Amino acid sequence: MTEQELIARLLPGLATNASVRVGAGDDCAVLDLGLPGQWVLFKTDAVMEGIHFTPDTEPARIGHKALARCLSDVAAMGGRPTQALVTLGLPRDFEIARVEAIYAGLNQLAARYDTAVVGGETIASPERTFLSVALLGTVEREKCLLRSGAQSGDGLFVSGQLGGSLQGRHLDFEPRIREAQWLAQNFEVHSMIDLSDGLATDLRHILKASGVGAELLERAIPISRAARLAARAESSSKPPLLAALTDGEDFELLFTLPAREAVRLLDGWKASFPGVPLSCIGRITSSPGLVLRNENGARSLNVHGFSHFS
Ligand SMILES: [Mg+2]
Repeated sequence: MTEQELIARLLPGLATNASVRVGAGDDCAVLDLGLPGQWVLFKTDAVMEGIHFTPDTEPARIGHKALARCLSDVAAMGGRPTQALVTLGLPRDFEIARVEAIYAGLNQLAARYDTAVVGGETIASPERTFLSVALLGTVEREKCLLRSGAQSGDGLFVSGQLGGSLQGRHLDFEPRIREAQWLAQNFEVHSMIDLSDGLATDLRHILKASGVGAELLERAIPISRAARLAARAESSSKPPLLAALTDGEDFELLFTLPAREAVRLLDGWKASFPGVPLSCIGRITSSPGLVLRNENGARSLNVHGFSHFS
C-alpha cells in the first residue's frame, strides 16, 4: 500500500469538532480557538535515523532539521510559529552528549524564530533514534494561505534552487518564514505550499486542491548547483532538470499570484531578500494537467513518466 493509499483510508474516519477550519490535507491544520482576528496553525513532523539522517550525522543538524520541517509548513500558510513540543525516541545505550547536541541545534533554530519549546516526551526506541515535533503557530485570518486558491492566469513562482538537496542542503535549510510573511503582507498570494516531495508532486497538490492546471517553462526552473554537479560526476544519476522536478526535501516556497504583479514581486523580493533567488517558472491554466514547455513545444508531464527526460 502506498502512503497516498494509506492516508486515503485513514482520513474519512478522523474525529473532528467545531474548531476545525482546515483539517488534514494542507501544510498545517487551521483552527479557530477564539483568538480575535487570528487562526491557530497546528503541525507535526518527524525525522528518523536511517531515513532522514544516519548515525554519523552531526547531531545539531538533526535537531535543526526536525524543527525546520515544521517551521517550513507554518511558513507555507503565511503564519508565524509560536510553541513546539518534542518527542524523542532513543536506544537504551544513548550518548548524552549527542542528545544535548541535537537539542542545541533545535533550540538555536527555535530561538531565531521566537518559538518556545514547551516540553515533550522521551521514549525508548530499541532500533533507531527519532525526533517528532509538534508545532503551534498563528496567522491573520485574512492572510492565511492555502493550497486551494490558485486561479487561471496566476504566475507560478518558486524560491531558491531545486534538486540535489539530499547531498547535504536538507540538513541545514533555513525555513522561509520571513519570506512567506513578507509575501502575505505585501501581495495577494492565491496559493502556497512548501516543497517537500519535489516540484512536480507538490505543484500537483496545488493544482488538485485548486481545480486548475499549470504550464511550466523548462528554461525557467532554477536548478541547484548540487543537482548539476551530481549529474556531471556520475552518469548514472538523474539529469539536472529531472532532479529539480522530482527530488524531495527542497523546502522552498511554491506559490501563485496574479501575473500582473510579477514585476513588482520580483523587484521587491530582490530588494528584501538579495541572498535568495526567486523565479517565475510558469503559469496556472484553466485546463487541468501539468505541461512542460521548451523550445520544441509543450508536452504533458506525468508524475510517473519522467523517463522521457533522459
Ligand atoms: Mg508542506
